[in-house]
Amino acid sequence: MKIRVIQSDITAIKVDAIVNAANSSLLGGSGVDGAIHRKGGSEILKACQEIRNKQGKCNVGEAVITTAGNLDARYVIHTVGPVWNHGGIEKEKLLSECYNNTMDLAIENNVKSIAFPNISTGIYKFPKEIAAQIAIQTIKSFKNQEIVKEVIFVCFDTENFELYNRLFKNENNNVI
Ligand code: ADP
Repeated sequence: MKIRVIQSDITAIKVDAIVNAANSSLLGGSGVDGAIHRKGGSEILKACQEIRNKQGKCNVGEAVITTAGNLDARYVIHTVGPVWNHGGIEKEKLLSECYNNTMDLAIENNVKSIAFPNISTGIYKFPKEIAAQIAIQTIKSFKNQEIVKEVIFVCFDTENFELYNRLFKNENNNVI
């Protein structure tokens, strides 16, 4: 499994699956969620509503998969990150579960390439560095490295881009 870091708008990426930092309602929101629904079109919302009708809300740490509508991808995987709210080990575990549950769904759907935003670091206020460390460590230690061939961390802003690059450099030097 190859891991890459790029600076871009996640809705402009061509991959098998784009990951959405959704909220429990699954009915859209602001930030990356808003961008995905805006560009992906009403098909995504319709699929989310069908899931809501079947299972109710999506719990924090869990993930669901839908069509990617008009996006240049096969799927959107919607996962609900924790709200930071002073943080703590439980919050960090839940954020890690977002990545693991998303990867499990990706594998079930034979996804070869997947793009993640820095989940929970917008409105949900997770410190970007802590969230990025959890993201990188969870993906690097994910149990099945065979099916998904490429994981892309998509950084919207320069701060995130520099942060992920620094963390990767450090990790390659075994600093973290
Ligand atoms: P959350 O509610 O999980 O905090 P947000 O969407 O508010 O989700 O923010 C999560 C991260 O997604 C932030 O780091 C934000 O900069 C980033 N982001 C926002 N829009 C985009 C986009 N179009 N592409 C990639 N990342 C984005």
